[in-house]
Amino acid sequence: MELLVCLLNSDSCLAFQEELDQVMGVEAQRFDSGWLEEAWTVRDELLKDLAALFAPRAKVDQLLTKLIDKINDVGPKPLWGLWAGENVEVGVFGKNPAYRIGPDQGVLRIGKEKWIVRMVFDGSVPPKQYLCTVIISALQTGQFNYFKRCQWQECRKFFITSDLKRDAYCGHGCMYAADRKSARERRVWKSGQRKRQEEDRKNNEAEHKAREAERKALEKFSHFLQLAAKHHHTEGELSTLRPILRKVRGWPVVERWLKQAKEKIPLKEIWKELGKEEQGVFGEKGQA
Ligand SMILES: [Zn+2]
Repeated sequence: MELLVCLLNSDSCLAFQEELDQVMGVEAQRFDSGWLEEAWTVRDELLKDLAALFAPRAKVDQLLTKLIDKINDVGPKPLWGLWAGENVEVGVFGKNPAYRIGPDQGVLRIGKEKWIVRMVFDGSVPPKQYLCTVIISALQTGQFNYFKRCQWQECRKFFITSDLKRDAYCGHGCMYAADRKSARERRVWKSGQRKRQEEDRKNNEAEHKAREAERKALEKFSHFLQLAAKHHHTEGELSTLRPILRKVRGWPVVERWLKQAKEKIPLKEIWKELGKEEQGVFGEKGQA
């Protein structure tokens, strides 16, 4: 798995070999440079296949099916070996690694002896087959769950996590960088939100003021019409009416409004028919 991670994270064959030496130490000597160069030729293809699984809204079942089909075509090479049929120490292996009894692994009894025939994949195969073996083994055993991609957008490296609860970032550096960025984004969003709220408040205030002004103007218009409708006016009343009459160009205009009012046309409708200038006469600046 380390080999695969080094391959995917490197941007040149040389970087891949250096990274491998660093990560695997003497273990890396198992692979000679000719083998590694050949492995490098399948890097882009594998990167495309595996990166797709980590994309947002990935169609994982389709992608995995395609990947498994491809691996089947490349054909990792299985090898079978004979192991002890008990969970005992087995040479350098410690507890018997073959003793994982389940539907795919059973104990064989022949005479008085017990055996397990266990399958492993051959590691001495060409690079492409080897890398496919690594992937299919990880998928089969569930080890693939530990194969992750750093979520920090400026990193996006692959890594193997040891803790499934903290598997978003390849290291503390990326975690802090992502944290700082989201804190910054939150701040920007919040100040944007404050600005939006302030604008809303101003708009509401302006709307409210406009409605209030219209209500007052309508009230003045209503008083004016009531006064104008009287048959006889006192001198005081006339002095209230005259400035407005002058501004709206005399009685004929007012008579028209009064006629509409008599025809039971609602005051608001009459008001709507007034020109801007005439409405202005009853507005705050009109001093009506
Ligand atoms: Zn990272």
